[in-house]
Amino acid sequence: MIRVGIPRALLYYQYLPMWKTFFEELGAEVIVSPATTQTLLAAGSSRVVADTCLPAKVFMGHVLSLADKCDFIFIPAIRSLKSKSYNCSKFLGLPDMTRAVIPESPPILEIDIDINKGRRQLYQAIYKLGRRFTWNPFRVKRAATAAWQAHLSYRQLMSTQGLTPPQAIENISGTSVAEPRTPPDSTSPAQATIGLIGHAYLLYDEHINYQIVQRLQQSGNMVLTPEMLGRHELELAVARTVGTAYWTYEEDVVGAGSYYLHNSTDGVIGIMAFGCGPDSLMMDMIHRQANRLKTTPFMCLTLEEHTSEAGVITRLEAFLDMIYRRKRRREEVCV
Ligand code: SF4
Repeated sequence: MIRVGIPRALLYYQYLPMWKTFFEELGAEVIVSPATTQTLLAAGSSRVVADTCLPAKVFMGHVLSLADKCDFIFIPAIRSLKSKSYNCSKFLGLPDMTRAVIPESPPILEIDIDINKGRRQLYQAIYKLGRRFTWNPFRVKRAATAAWQAHLSYRQLMSTQGLTPPQAIENISGTSVAEPRTPPDSTSPAQATIGLIGHAYLLYDEHINYQIVQRLQQSGNMVLTPEMLGRHELELAVARTVGTAYWTYEEDVVGAGSYYLHNSTDGVIGIMAFGCGPDSLMMDMIHRQANRLKTTPFMCLTLEEHTSEAGVITRLEAFLDMIYRRKRRREEVCV
């Protein structure tokens, strides 16, 4: 059986169920790299120039960890998923970048996804990828249809049950009973409702963000993330804020940020990577919107390889203290 490696980084959190279903339907075994560790990050970091963003360094570390464990490694080049919206250059050149910095990588299975070139080109790209496993186009079509269905079910699971991507993945694979939107002690009300915005690879990689989701939940807060919103809500929020989205994953930052600023969260935390061009623009829009609205506090945490855990915790605690004080004062006024 052909073994296909999928790095647990970058778009893994958005698309794992879809990719896994596609390859398994074509008879392959899918191997996912382990969770990020300091050793893995250091290995990835040593292969790229210093000013590469943290998520790309993490990605290279995951590719290295899979190098001797699979026959192929799956690395898509996603250029655009919607007409006239574009992805960050790292995603466009990911297969080439990987080949250049990790020559010992197993052969790369790549697919070029660019909706701007039309659906016909997309179908051809899917068939070209599937041809590595079978010459039967109907089998590829069946695998692609099952994969798309798996993706829709995954999105629906997160938005209807309030699950984060890691929880939904565990739920689908039957490895855990995921806890939905409630704080850890569900007998008492949440201390505060916090909207967490940013790319999935920053919000859910526990090593690089120092377990921010768990920390917030363990302090008794309810955490809402972009995946817990429906596509329609996110698109409306983007339209209200910027009109038409320019960046492919603008909904995770601008859409979710604007939605949570307007919809009764007690605070919004944005997480971005140091040196990220798209995020510096998108987070700034949300920051300005928060300043204009003056209703919901906003804080942006910037992560990089040398971000200290103590620094993240101190800022988080200070932000939460301010939110709790603000809430108490409001409740006193209402009484
Ligand atoms: S969007 Fe930003 S953080 Fe993500 S890969 Fe591109 S530069 Fe890195």
